[in-house]
Amino acid sequence: MAQIIDGKSVALQIKLEVKEQVERLKAKYSVIPGLAVILVGDDIGSVTYVRNKQKACDDVGIHSRTFSFSSDVGQKELEILINELNHNAQYNGILIQMPLPRSLDSRSLLNAVDPEKDVDGLLPSNVGRLVIGEEALYPCTPLGIMTLLQRYEVPVSGAHAVIVGRSNLVGKPLALMLIAANATVTLCHTKTRDLPGIVRQADILVAAAGRPGLVRGDWIKQGAVVIDVGINRSPNGKLTGDVEFEQAEKRASFITPVPGGVGPMTIAMLMRNTLVAAERQTRR
Ligand code: NAD
Repeated sequence: MAQIIDGKSVALQIKLEVKEQVERLKAKYSVIPGLAVILVGDDIGSVTYVRNKQKACDDVGIHSRTFSFSSDVGQKELEILINELNHNAQYNGILIQMPLPRSLDSRSLLNAVDPEKDVDGLLPSNVGRLVIGEEALYPCTPLGIMTLLQRYEVPVSGAHAVIVGRSNLVGKPLALMLIAANATVTLCHTKTRDLPGIVRQADILVAAAGRPGLVRGDWIKQGAVVIDVGINRSPNGKLTGDVEFEQAEKRASFITPVPGGVGPMTIAMLMRNTLVAAERQTRR
């Protein structure tokens, strides 16, 4: 039976570490890290995420403010706000809650954010630095996954890591981080031939497709480490991942639950990124 990777407790530990460092920054430089969140519309998922981020900021002593807009806000108005926030030293991080309404050009708004304040790590310059292994702000979910692997002392070097999902948010940046940690990486997607055959070879399997039950329990190699990033809400309101948990648990050595696995780590990493951004901007 697999050992459960307890993302909730690791995230709590990381938030305590961030809190200590926030206090140190405040004592030494009188700086309180700040996060600005831009929320457009009233999508229940987005509103909940933003509320959770705000709460995490309160927990660790990061100053945060949410700038809320109705879904008919204009591109120009948001551009003006982003420009103001870029120049406002109170905010070290700027986060645009995705998805934005289709009437807005999300990429152009993201690109308007100062890369030094891009705490989601999604700007081309930060992604480019990740590619060549330079210091940068890295995306929170893959960073959270790497941290879980480290804290549970999962051997990554030389392992075959299989990722299902090639999004810019999760799959692609995670592949780069795993390569940097000397894993051999296979990145799968909707056009991949023989997904079961590839998953069966994985020492580390990361499922990030957003398809409930896509990864069958019997695809998991005996002793593999299973990281389930998927968040799927079933009709009865229950959250499930992309992996058939009960069956996979019998074969894996470690497995993340949904909820309580990768999810809490994403927010903890956002706190850490905001702290790191504040430290870098203070030293500048
Ligand atoms: P996305 O829709 O942008 O990308 C999904 C990827 O999965 C695509 O690359 C697609 O090719 C691949 N895919 C989809 N169906 C597939 C199939 N049948 N076979 C093989 N590949 C398939 O999604 P995303 O933003 O990367 O998110 C993926 C999942 O992770 C979602 O459930 C999302 O809610 C969740 N998520 C969780 C966190 C967290 O903090 N836990 C953070 C981000 C995303």
